[in-house]
Amino acid sequence: MSLSEEANKFSRDKVQWLLENQCRIPVRSTTPISYYYKTADNLIEQADHYFTTNQFEQSFILYSRYITLFVEELKQHHRDYPNVSINDRERVKDIIRTKALPRAEELKDKLKEKYIREYEEKQKTIDEYEEDNLKITTTTLSCAPINIQHENKLTSQQLTDNYVQLPLTHIASSLLSTTNDNFGQMSNKPDKTTYDYSQETATNSINPNKMLYRQISIPNDITLKFLQVAEQNTAKNVYTYGILAGNKKENNEYMITHIVIPKQNGGINSCYIEKQEEEMFEYISNNNLITLGWIHTHPNERVFLSSIDLHRHILYQMLIQEAIAIVISPKFNQTEIFSMTDDRGIPVISACQMSDIHQHVNHPPLYVISSHTNYDLDLECKIIDLRH
Ligand SMILES: [Zn+2]
Ligand SMILES: [Zn+2]
Repeated sequence: MSLSEEANKFSRDKVQWLLENQCRIPVRSTTPISYYYKTADNLIEQADHYFTTNQFEQSFILYSRYITLFVEELKQHHRDYPNVSINDRERVKDIIRTKALPRAEELKDKLKEKYIREYEEKQKTIDEYEEDNLKITTTTLSCAPINIQHENKLTSQQLTDNYVQLPLTHIASSLLSTTNDNFGQMSNKPDKTTYDYSQETATNSINPNKMLYRQISIPNDITLKFLQVAEQNTAKNVYTYGILAGNKKENNEYMITHIVIPKQNGGINSCYIEKQEEEMFEYISNNNLITLGWIHTHPNERVFLSSIDLHRHILYQMLIQEAIAIVISPKFNQTEIFSMTDDRGIPVISACQMSDIHQHVNHPPLYVISSHTNYDLDLECKIIDLRH
């Protein structure tokens, strides 16, 4: 295969990988369909922002998420799809036809060109390096006649390997980290050897996508207030769960102002939510709030995101990429704020078909401590408890 054919294949595969692994928002029939229709407006708003600031990959992913959600996912997987109002249907169709689809197509072409360039440049760097090292090898040989006899016994490939081993590995890893082209090697299959609740991986990592996220301000009293309403459950070792809701600030960053607690049947291992989320999402929608993630307690354990937590969280983060998961452990006096990793957590969890407690490969980490949040002393957390 010629270099340009290789580069073309690489770019096609990478776009395809993005479509398959970054763009399918999981659809649950227990989440009201109106929630998807309302919240997805954020996807368009974020996609527009990336489009105007020339962040092609992010923009392409978000427009494609929007299109896939309404053209395929809801139609196939949500029982209430036939009952969506004509207004909503037409509005979405219009956004897709006039903006999302033409822009996604335009971005796809731009991305393909970008990936081809990246591939060719990378190949060039590697070739140049190999050439340089061959020169070094030749020079070393000609300057060291004493060793020639011994070195002649080695094949030239072995010699090159000896010289280039370290730098090439270094180049490869730096290229991988900047172009993120290890997409083909990611396994979506859960690995039985690692647990997804490895706390060390989460607490020691920083979300690499920090720059792209808008800051979220969190009320300083959030842990205290949530622990108060969770108290009865905590005493029985039962989990409590709520939705974080808020608004945009004048500077376009987010702030959390409410926790909305739905009717729920907390279990020991996780929160088993009764199918009564309509009321909760209705409250959020009627009060013009934005869902910014969720919060729950681990009465008897430390803080981490279990497999069930990850599968719940992905929906929020795929609709609003800043969405966070706050986990509180009253027993260990810990509170932590987590985000799923875009390049790893989202593809793995969106492809995983398992439910209940199961295991995922957590290296590189599926989730990390959020780096786009801050506690704000001036914010107060309002609790809306729909359980009573
Ligand atoms: Zn949990
Ligand atoms: Zn899974």
